[in-house]
Amino acid sequence: FVRCQKLWKSYGDREILKAIYLDVQPGEVVAVLGPSGSGKSTLLRLITHIESIDDGEITVGGRYVGYAKGVGKLVPTRHVERDRAQIGVSMVFQNFNLFANLTVLENIMEAPIRVHGVAPEEAEALARDLLAVVGLSGHADHLPHRLSGGQQQRVGIARALAIRPRLMLFDEPTSALDPELVGEVLSVMRTLADAGMTMIVVTHEMDFAREVADRVVFFDEGEIVEQGTPAEVIDNPQKARTRAFLRRLG
Ligand code: ATP
Ligand code: MG
Repeated sequence: FVRCQKLWKSYGDREILKAIYLDVQPGEVVAVLGPSGSGKSTLLRLITHIESIDDGEITVGGRYVGYAKGVGKLVPTRHVERDRAQIGVSMVFQNFNLFANLTVLENIMEAPIRVHGVAPEEAEALARDLLAVVGLSGHADHLPHRLSGGQQQRVGIARALAIRPRLMLFDEPTSALDPELVGEVLSVMRTLADAGMTMIVVTHEMDFAREVADRVVFFDEGEIVEQGTPAEVIDNPQKARTRAFLRRLG
């Protein structure tokens, strides 16, 4: 469903991603692990088409989302959000990225109305359904700052779901949360995974990766060092770099 072929990305003369090949099957949950600065967020930004690639190609559902500059495939930036929505890719960020001046309900209704032209009544009905899914029906009319971090991230997930994506990307969705709030967010993600959502999750939550991911990909210095089932990569890593990383995590 997602196909990354020989992806290259540099910032200036620093190579951040070096010939990444990554395929994700429909319904598959892939956990991406790796040290800070290894290129994990960059990979997600290329898949969501927030940034262009230097070489290689990315398709989601058979449609090109990554475009190498200068090969005639670059799409104007103003179309990016709409393209992403049409292809059905949503992203959940570490810091929630909610609109502070909109209520919880309005945050969820925003993209369907503005990007997809959905009628407000329909967007509201969907937003209320999604709030129920993430267990926050009682908070529809609150502003985000009244919610805990865990609740805000659940709103972030509901908002990402509002465009009815076929692929969900999560960039360290629980890293900004107090430990006691991590579980409620992971539990929503687990529900999505069980429902068959295709997901790429950058995370340091080893228990989550072990229990929910179909495949674990270990990234270091812009390369996929090792990948396999959680049992293979987390519990029986073959590469020294993977072992060193897991040891540091403790
Ligand atoms: P972390 O675990 O800290 O989130 P990461 O694996 O997500 O790390 P990236 O954010 O993908 O790493 O960054 C990879 C490298 O690219 C880093 O060294 C970073 O400084 C660099 N980088 C990222 N974005 C840019 C940019 N817009 N311009 C220049 N360098 C960048
Ligand atoms: Mg990152």
